[in-house]
Amino acid sequence: MKRTAEQVWNECLTFIEGNVSPNVFDTWFKPIRPVKLEDRTLTIEVPSPMYYEWLETHYLDLLRAALTRVLGRGAGLMYQVRMSNRNPRKKALTFPASAKPPVDTRNPLPSLNGGGKTPPNPFVIPGIQKIKIDSNLNPHYTFDNFIEGPNNRLARNAGLSIAKRNTLTFNPLFIYGGVGLGKTHIANAIGVEVKRRSPDKNVLYVSMEKFVQQYVAAATNSSRADFINFYQMVDVLIIDDVQFLAGKSRTQDVFFHIFNHLHREKKQLIFTSDKAPIDLKDVEGRILSRFNWGLTAELKAPDYKTRLQIIRHKLREDGVEMPDEVVEYIASQIKTNIRDIEGVLTGLIAQATFNQREINLDLAREVVGNFVKQKKPEFSCDMIKQIVAQYFGLTMKEFESNSRKRTIVQARQISMYLAKKYTKASLETIGRHIGKKDHATVVYSLQVVRNLIDVDKKFRHIVRDIEALLVES
Ligand code: ADP
Ligand code: MG
Repeated sequence: MKRTAEQVWNECLTFIEGNVSPNVFDTWFKPIRPVKLEDRTLTIEVPSPMYYEWLETHYLDLLRAALTRVLGRGAGLMYQVRMSNRNPRKKALTFPASAKPPVDTRNPLPSLNGGGKTPPNPFVIPGIQKIKIDSNLNPHYTFDNFIEGPNNRLARNAGLSIAKRNTLTFNPLFIYGGVGLGKTHIANAIGVEVKRRSPDKNVLYVSMEKFVQQYVAAATNSSRADFINFYQMVDVLIIDDVQFLAGKSRTQDVFFHIFNHLHREKKQLIFTSDKAPIDLKDVEGRILSRFNWGLTAELKAPDYKTRLQIIRHKLREDGVEMPDEVVEYIASQIKTNIRDIEGVLTGLIAQATFNQREINLDLAREVVGNFVKQKKPEFSCDMIKQIVAQYFGLTMKEFESNSRKRTIVQARQISMYLAKKYTKASLETIGRHIGKKDHATVVYSLQVVRNLIDVDKKFRHIVRDIEALLVES
């Protein structure tokens, strides 16, 4: 008896539901729609490319397990991405899970690829003459969509100058920083830019994890020499997450060899890592010292302004509109991981698209809540009062006086507006804490501030500056 896509997906859902928290299930799995079932390949529809990336990075194993359970071995999964229909320029696109996705999920996925296929082995490429190798770059990670901020300026500019001028001043370029700060993105962007300018160059992107795997496989097949030869043909070698070298002494040895060869031949080397060279444990000193030969650049967490820019940029790319206050709220809540910012945006878009919910602050709070597991304390009315008073150069006494002076009135009104936006306090509580006003005064103040934000550019900037102070506090 033939099962429909719906039936198969429902069975998968039952399995998935038993394995994730209700929040995760609601946010990431419920909105998925089964589209069709052909052979043993299920096609599902997700709301945006970001959504797909999130699933691939976080729930691939789970999806695979569910599908294999329901459809047996060799089960396949295809994604179809539905763009928000608010942007008529974009069409729906389809790509198979086994194709190179727009994210760095290049791990071999035997069971999803249908039939235990392993990725192409680079060593079967014959010949000694200059041959082209597949760069394995992710074309979606470019400089154009990498927002510059004080947190990434050094790495970004060094990368750009490598790509543009081919200087060898920064060799190797060593980029390090925490999770989700753009290391993989920037490393790819350099490669993509080099390729764009000089298509004949052999650029290779590889994760250290894969490098280690390849080496181990090569060593067992006695093709260690092929492995080394292959890597020595590269003009620009990009190795992502080199911290995976830790403790792998034989791979370190071969890596050292390849590094020396390429460096001597004036080939560009680019590495990323989650730690500075000095903090890498279980990596030989001779390798660590080489990491420091060129330029070491840290990626830090983006500041509020940069986060705002990143969010606005992603929304533009996705053709989605979101009220400013929602954008600002997300930027204020998710501070240290850009991938999480994308996750929240994706979650919001999913809710809006599939559950037809309006994207507003309430929905944003809900989705952010699912993300920020341990919620940091919210801002309090007191904190807000203090920051606003400070901004206007008012003492607390002046701020809380009954004065009708314009600055003081405005300072109170802005505080109420921010308290409404950033705390869970009721209007009564806000009134009580800010100037001992009643509910109606608070309602009126909120209206005044919202109107002014709409019509008065200077005022809008004042509010934005204060918000920046608040969220950085
Ligand atoms: P890492 O490798 O440091 O863990 P990634 O490079 O994978 O981080 O970045 C995580 C996500 O954040 C990616 O989708 C990337 O496109 C995005 N991202 C990071 N930095 C920026 C930036 N400055 N501008 C735009 N997107 C960014
Ligand atoms: Mg990475």
